[in-house]
Amino acid sequence: MPLVSSRLRVPARHRAAILTAIREYGPISRADLSRVLSLRPSSITSQARDLLAQGLIDEVGPGNSSTGRPPVLLDIARRDNYAVGIVLEPNGISAALVQWDGAIVCRSPIVPVRPNVPAVDLEQQAIEAAERVLCEGGVLRERVHGIGVGVSALVDTSANEAVFSSTFSQVRRFRFDALAESTGRPVYLEDIAYLMALGERWFVYPNDRRPLVFLLVSRGTCGAVLAPAGAPELPRFAAEFGHMVVSPNGPLCGCGKRGCLEALLSESALLGTAQRLLPAPSNGPLTLASVAALAEAGNQIAASIIETAGEFLGLALANIASVFAPALIVVGGSVAEGWGRWLLPTGRAAAHDHLLDSLRDRVEVLPSRLGGDAALVGCAARVMDAVFSRQ
Ligand SMILES: [Zn+2]
Repeated sequence: MPLVSSRLRVPARHRAAILTAIREYGPISRADLSRVLSLRPSSITSQARDLLAQGLIDEVGPGNSSTGRPPVLLDIARRDNYAVGIVLEPNGISAALVQWDGAIVCRSPIVPVRPNVPAVDLEQQAIEAAERVLCEGGVLRERVHGIGVGVSALVDTSANEAVFSSTFSQVRRFRFDALAESTGRPVYLEDIAYLMALGERWFVYPNDRRPLVFLLVSRGTCGAVLAPAGAPELPRFAAEFGHMVVSPNGPLCGCGKRGCLEALLSESALLGTAQRLLPAPSNGPLTLASVAALAEAGNQIAASIIETAGEFLGLALANIASVFAPALIVVGGSVAEGWGRWLLPTGRAAAHDHLLDSLRDRVEVLPSRLGGDAALVGCAARVMDAVFSRQ
């Protein structure tokens, strides 16, 4: 019996390795796959035949050859496979049908969430949003390989449960299995920052050989670290960057400490500072956009709020870079989107001042390219990851 099961496991492991290598290095020939993975050509041929039959990979045309017949290249069948992405946040539910190349096929309007809505109603709203994009997308449901769900919470991915959320407690009672039962698609729950990092890693920087660190600066502040392509042994985790202390005598944070990044750089912290220092606008509450508009119009207080935020961002970037360099640090979230054109240059300059000389050229800081869609797109990567690693 042990002999039989080990013989069955080996090809399954090969399948995961082959799919991962095609994603990271594709389009790629069978011969190059054999070299990259140190697998026998016959194993590659037989697995590739199965994967082609399952519609998970495509033959995408001839490659270059200096001698003899050009090889046929293999790639992930990115346009014939899909995932549903759902993002549950305290202010709304967003859903989209996403191709395996990261393109959004269709999306549902954001469904508002009432404060203290019962979890059972939240489940129903999520099911309706998923069904809506599944119907509107008009694709065969069997080609939709799963539903990735992002929540602003600490999650137990093995149990598909949200364990803790300080801002969205109902999500802890959300039965994610009910979403799977209703739609007939497997559900994969993840932390939102982790999904954003995954979206950038897989669809924007698939061949980058540096660790990718995603810093989410939004209502809260957190992040994720992902290994570079081809180095699965490196860390891959959601990180509480928000509670990194950048000002020991700074304002009190929700965690009880003083001067955490979250207490200084989250959207609510910045708007709190702006409300204390700036006059209330006549046409509604202060927003990130209205503070930026004041700064652009020459208001020195608004400009200094943004400048100070950039300096704290720089301290955080320097701390992150000191741990992870060489690294690509991607900064995303509502604060990064709203103020990024001022924040990032100030942040980079401040990080430069705080970093060791030897690290300065080994870190690149870039804005999120996926912007507000990063988590939805990351859901597709999460589903693909589950399909690829299925044993
Ligand atoms: Zn804190």
